[in-house]
Amino acid sequence: MRLFAQRDAEEFAKTGEKVFRFNRDIRLTPGARDVFAERGVKVIFEADGPAPSPATAPAAPSAGGTKSEWEKLFRSPEAESLKQQICEIGKRCWQRDYCDGNGGNISARLGDVFICTPTGVSKGFMKPEMMCLVDIDGNQLAGTWKRTSEILTHMAIYRAVPQAKAVAHAHPVYATAFAMAGLEPPQCLIPEMEVFVGRAPLAPYRTPGSADMQEVIKPLAPKHQSILMGNHGVICWGTSVEDAYFKMEITDAYCRTVVVASHLPTNRTTIPAEGVRELLDIKKKLGLPDPREDYKPVQLCEVDPWNMISDRPCGCSSPASGGGADAGGMTNAELEALVQRVTDEIMRSTGGKS
Ligand SMILES: [Zn+2]
Repeated sequence: MRLFAQRDAEEFAKTGEKVFRFNRDIRLTPGARDVFAERGVKVIFEADGPAPSPATAPAAPSAGGTKSEWEKLFRSPEAESLKQQICEIGKRCWQRDYCDGNGGNISARLGDVFICTPTGVSKGFMKPEMMCLVDIDGNQLAGTWKRTSEILTHMAIYRAVPQAKAVAHAHPVYATAFAMAGLEPPQCLIPEMEVFVGRAPLAPYRTPGSADMQEVIKPLAPKHQSILMGNHGVICWGTSVEDAYFKMEITDAYCRTVVVASHLPTNRTTIPAEGVRELLDIKKKLGLPDPREDYKPVQLCEVDPWNMISDRPCGCSSPASGGGADAGGMTNAELEALVQRVTDEIMRSTGGKS
């Protein structure tokens, strides 16, 4: 995601253009908005944004590209830049204790194909030459190291969310603890989480890297950039490698703060519903979508978040049936997946007309 600041807005205003269009790849600062308001420039947010410019994505070989064509793409300046970014973010994940052993994996979109981390390597000590090039089915196209075994989970996100430019998966301790406890992080407690992540749903446990894992992640990805994986870890997508990492960092810091606060013998306060409404308005202005963006205050924070995490009896359910269970034994994620499947079915039977 690119920051569009006050100075950029001043430069834009000098061109005499009266309409500024932006999408979720660009974040407008409040200073830039002020400049546009002063100069009478209309700001229009386009949710899906224009198609990526060919200038930013190198021409990829067609589906049946030859090995040397893939190699050429794999060594292009754009690919080298992504490799560097992935190594840097891997180091940050390891330094923050998000990756144990060889755990975790990161990928980034390069046109129609993807650069990803290798399997069996600590994310804190990767080098650009260890990276792999894969297609949307996870087939390795270039790179001498074997690609991560969890790449298909990333692909479920790329298939479901065209604007996802990068995916990061790791096992940060506090967020993973929520995923083990079968507990979705509560909401309405800290502005950072509300604005930059929103709800982080809990997907039920499935074998890492399996097709089943793709099925439970896919329906959640379009509306959630940070997803807890039951008894496993966290997977986040972003508009850049760093943005995906930020989502992970914010999610884990939030879970850690909630855990610490839940042990303090003080009054447990929440952000009032009107306050959350204001945060969602800020989020909208920043061009960050949220499924709750049209909610009225009364619909926000209906449940006391503290009740969700305190005095909670141990269900001691198995991972397959546990995890954020609602009445009826179905997790929120399973319920969401079911709704998505039914919607898909209806769309199919009506030929896409609803
Ligand atoms: Zn994992």
